[in-house]
Amino acid sequence: MSILPLVFYPDARLAQPCAPVTDPATDEDLRPVIADMFDTMYAAPGRGLAGPQVGVMKRVFVMDCTWKDGAGTPMAFLNPEIIVQREDEDTLNEGCLSIPDLMVPVVRPAAITVRWMDELGGTHERNFDGFEARCIQHEMDHLDGRVTLDHLSEPARTEILQGYTAP
Ligand code: ZN
Repeated sequence: MSILPLVFYPDARLAQPCAPVTDPATDEDLRPVIADMFDTMYAAPGRGLAGPQVGVMKRVFVMDCTWKDGAGTPMAFLNPEIIVQREDEDTLNEGCLSIPDLMVPVVRPAAITVRWMDELGGTHERNFDGFEARCIQHEMDHLDGRVTLDHLSEPARTEILQGYTAP
């Protein structure tokens, strides 16, 4: 297990859609990568990390929204799909490990139903709300080549990037 180097905005990999994961039960390369993604996320320290943020151009992200407050809830999401999103939305300033120190206000549905596969190939379907729903949508954006800044209008993005320099 090891900590992987992070990819920082405006690296082109963060703007590229990812390819679906094939069966993780037979893809022997993927499980060590997921373990490294957890290590990298905890070391950063963050609560979510998507493949492209470490140069893995596959539809996979890891998340643990509770470890900073005590007991952890590590989850790996492979080929996640949002199958229902609630109509009500809220706005929150989101940080991103690939855009350090830049908080971007993003409007998102407040609750979602997600279907995904875990790292052993099991399928799951569950409702999420609150911070977890937001984190999942943020990470899924990465799998589609989108970052927080892509939610802003061009003038708002230009303004927020004033003085920003990538690490
Ligand atoms: Zn991010």
